[in-house]
Amino acid sequence: MEAYNALHALMKGPLPSLFFCIGDPVVGNPTQHMVEYAFRTMGFPGRYLTSRVTKEELAPALWGLRALAFAGGNVTAPHKQTVLQYLDELSESALLCKAVNTIVRRSDGTYYGDNTDGKGFLQSLKDRNLPVKDKKIVILGSGGAASAIATELVLAKAKEVVLVNRTEDRSRSIAKRLAGIRATILTVDRWEGSYSIPSDADIVVQATSVGLFSPAACVDVTFPKRNKPLIACDVVFNPVQTLFLQRSEEAGCTTVDGLGMLVNQGILGIEQWTGNTPDSEGMRDALEEAFGV
Ligand code: NDP
Repeated sequence: MEAYNALHALMKGPLPSLFFCIGDPVVGNPTQHMVEYAFRTMGFPGRYLTSRVTKEELAPALWGLRALAFAGGNVTAPHKQTVLQYLDELSESALLCKAVNTIVRRSDGTYYGDNTDGKGFLQSLKDRNLPVKDKKIVILGSGGAASAIATELVLAKAKEVVLVNRTEDRSRSIAKRLAGIRATILTVDRWEGSYSIPSDADIVVQATSVGLFSPAACVDVTFPKRNKPLIACDVVFNPVQTLFLQRSEEAGCTTVDGLGMLVNQGILGIEQWTGNTPDSEGMRDALEEAFGV
């Protein structure tokens, strides 16, 4: 792609495409840095802005973004669920998890919502040649990230997904929502005291927020002796090497960090916005640079 000249575009057109990240809070969210890196290195004429939008201001903010013809953007907490009602069309993933993290403006001016969190997680496993089809996967947590991951695991025909959460009702509601979509067995396990990871599990995903910004915090789990390999993944991306991943490694697991998921969910959005695939290594470096600030 030809290098983008912002001044030339301003004076002669066409003006750059505009993208947004909205949530509350948004300070500390590194997405803009990662996306701007991608746009720059792809020579893509896009500008990306991060803006705090409160719950009360979500509706007018979205009408404003529509009026200004923003080409798309990202949605983060607390708007991932409430944003659905303002969109014209939803992807299968967004419909199934009832949450959107990526918005794309179509050529007819309508807005399409997708959820790339779970797909980004699956891609981080694919990048390591770790298949999920026909596997038994335990998910610790049943919030937004866990729901998005469970959805994609079902769509990817995992054999069994076990949901484990301290608030069991949230696990039950995900299991109910995803039941019957594919042949995947959905089960809910109790989490009382220390949770013992089943010895026949192939993959365990730490999808709670425990450990985020807290290098000394870890979910209360034990890794019983086993005679088959276990892959341990964490969705927490800061710190990258969480205590859960350290303990998993000590228990002999292959580990997958949350930074890969973060990069891949971003790539899936950028592909929809630009039609091209950005450089994932550089995006990962950009995130690590942001976390170092
Ligand atoms: P939610 O608030 O929706 O869910 C939080 C989950 O963590 C719930 O299951 C909650 O359990 C559980 N939890 C919180 N504290 C504890 C605790 N002390 N002990 C046990 N469980 C606990 O958050 P999200 O699902 O949106 O986010 C979860 C994590 O995933 C965050 O760290 C976020 O940064 C990360 N994330 C990473 C992404 C990536 O690309 N790598 C993408 C999206 C999110 P309960 O229901 O009982 O409260």
